Amino acid sequence: MSLPIDDSRVIVTADERYNARVVERRDETETLAYFKVRFDGEPVPFDPGQYMTIGVFADEKLWQRPYSVASAPTDAADGYEFYVRLVPIIRFTTLLWRLQVGQQMRMTGPKGRFLLEPDDRRTHLFVSTGTGIAPFISMIRETLAQRKPRRTVVLHGVSYADELGYRDVLERWERDGTYPVRYVPTVSRPADPRNAGWDGRAGRVEAVIGDVCKDLGLRPDRTVVYICGNPDMILNVEGVLMNRGFPEFHVKKELYWPKGKDAPAAPAG
Ligand SMILES: Cc1cc2nc3c(=O)[nH]c(=O)nc-3n(C[C@H](O)[C@H](O)[C@H](O)COP(=O)(O)OP(=O)(O)OC[C@H]3O[C@@H](n4cnc5c(N)ncnc54)[C@H](O)[C@@H]3O)c2cc1C
Repeated sequence: MSLPIDDSRVIVTADERYNARVVERRDETETLAYFKVRFDGEPVPFDPGQYMTIGVFADEKLWQRPYSVASAPTDAADGYEFYVRLVPIIRFTTLLWRLQVGQQMRMTGPKGRFLLEPDDRRTHLFVSTGTGIAPFISMIRETLAQRKPRRTVVLHGVSYADELGYRDVLERWERDGTYPVRYVPTVSRPADPRNAGWDGRAGRVEAVIGDVCKDLGLRPDRTVVYICGNPDMILNVEGVLMNRGFPEFHVKKELYWPKGKDAPAAPAG
């Protein structure tokens, strides 16, 4: 996969500080990919919603970033799955994109408090943009493995329909009833030729969430909301929900970067 930007830093392939390796990589588009990273030793337990920090040494320095785990804790022995967007500036993802299966990495964690409440019987509304869907996939996979599924609505916003990561699995869970999930994808640029043939919802998540709550009968007193990804989207969604009477403590948030720090030509999330 060719990089849209030239990163000539020399990646250290072997180092005693490495403790894990890439065991799987699947490119979805030029700028979105799934990576699976496995500890060389015993896996570390984590809760769905938490993140790991992964990195490589290049030019004498450890480049590392946090990533939400998308796989279930029960599968940790096989590795931790991450869903990542390439950000076209020379920092960590331009190194990550150059890694092949077998490359050693440093992985630490888990960390994070973006967690499910035990035995929460409310409807779960999972709202995300772009790669922010990752922790929700872990949450669904884990509650499925425990046979304790929760009534869930997954609202996922992207610019282009081919960026709807995990669409296949979500549609399958919904279609065959494996999981009580209602999958609501939305694309923010419906008129773009790349979205030709798209007949689903159109508009940013903050623009459609009001209708989604109305259409699906999501009541503030019976719904817990988790929002993950782009900080501006999180703030806007929260604003809409507050106006609809959702109490602040019914809304949990995971910001992937600080507000106001958008990358050049910022992608969806
Ligand atoms: C708790 C946590 C969990 C995260 N989980 C994920 C994840 O599962 N998948 C993932 O792709 N990223 C995730 N991130 C973001 C990730 O850590 C990196 O910031 C990102 O991969 C870009 O790394 P970078 O070194 O290339 O650029 P950085 O210097 O880290 O970021 C530069 C800029 O890139 C933009 N940016 C960062 N992340 C994204 C993104 N995901 N989509 C679009 N633009 C972005 C922001 O404007 C940011 O200011 C997470 C961040 C946090 C804090």
